[in-house]
Amino acid sequence: MYTTYEIPDYRPSLSGSDIDAILNALSQKFSERRSKHLGYPYNLDFDASSLSQFSNFLINNLGDPYAGSHYATEVCSTEREVIDWIMRVWQCNDPSEYWGSVGTSGTEGNLWALYLAREALSDPLLIHSAEAHYSLPKAARILQIDALKCSVGGSGAICNESLKTLIHANRHRSIILALTCGTTMKGAHDDIASCISALDEVGVEPNRRFIHIDGALNAMVLPFIEDVPFGIRPTFQHRIDSMSTSGHKMIGTPMPCGVLVARRQHVNKVASSVSYLRSDDTTLMGSRNGHAVLAIWNRLMRLDVPGFQANARNSATRAQAFADTLRIAAVPVLLNPFSLTVVFPKPSERLVQEYQLACHDNLAHAIVMPNVDTGLINRFTNAYITEWTSSSPEKAFS
Ligand SMILES: *Cc1c(COP(=O)(O)O)cnc(C)c1O
Repeated sequence: MYTTYEIPDYRPSLSGSDIDAILNALSQKFSERRSKHLGYPYNLDFDASSLSQFSNFLINNLGDPYAGSHYATEVCSTEREVIDWIMRVWQCNDPSEYWGSVGTSGTEGNLWALYLAREALSDPLLIHSAEAHYSLPKAARILQIDALKCSVGGSGAICNESLKTLIHANRHRSIILALTCGTTMKGAHDDIASCISALDEVGVEPNRRFIHIDGALNAMVLPFIEDVPFGIRPTFQHRIDSMSTSGHKMIGTPMPCGVLVARRQHVNKVASSVSYLRSDDTTLMGSRNGHAVLAIWNRLMRLDVPGFQANARNSATRAQAFADTLRIAAVPVLLNPFSLTVVFPKPSERLVQEYQLACHDNLAHAIVMPNVDTGLINRFTNAYITEWTSSSPEKAFS
């Protein structure tokens, strides 16, 4: 004897046409909202229509990207093409010495990198910037890694003197150094070369350290801009161990996703083979989103290097014009070199809502992504300046 579980009715059931109407209204709302979006570093200027033919397939890259599994609707070879392409951009000299994967987000990349780091070292200490993305301290809590914040200078990049002091005070420990290429709030670039020199100077040798670069936005921007100083360039020519980026930021995909590249030796250390999958267990997630792999591949192949160069350079030029327009109206503005992130005093709640600005304390920022065109910038700066000159929002700016 058994009884069926009663599922309570919580509302009248919907007909097929009701459901269509609700979904259509949602899509209409998205079109309006997308046209005014300024606050997050999302490249909304993509066309994924050639991917719609896959919408009725479950595409699952189970297991290790280099091994695949025997679930046949998978795109592991496409995933490896994506990784190879990005390894070229990040200057991995010998790709066979590196490993990469497409994951759910920049956050997963950071978490997995810190896991690789923890397994590579004994009882390590994580040092990250005070302005690092919240996913780094969160990953440290999940992985139970001790973590310390390093203070930053006015640009938002790690202060080298403070870093040296911190490393010196912990010189007998193994150190995980997580640096940021394009901080979330100020678009600042930690100087990778001088941070590595700090480890060298204090005497934390390569076998007692692991360096991860969180390049969620700008690891896919700086490689495409000219004259970027070597120190801040996101490249494996620095003696770094891993680097991650988000797929839905500069690359431009219709779902959140991300890419992590790490030195293969670190991945080999954590890999265990799973006979049930006929694969190696080298990723955080078991089932992995093949649609995201196709979405990234579609962007990389269609834009190619010249497309990314045009997007990065044109966005940087518009960011500069954006900042100049505000400065002419005596608004204090921060725009870091080679960055797309324009920081200014927070405007009224009405403008914050309308343009979906991300705020922190009394600051707000706009990120000039490829879809943020001159028309949108002008509409926003006009509205901002009108408010600024009439009511003067808080002018305290640090
Ligand atoms: C956005 C961002 C992340 C997180 O990336 P998600 O893909 O949103 O998880 C990590 N670090 C920095 C610097 C970011 O700007």
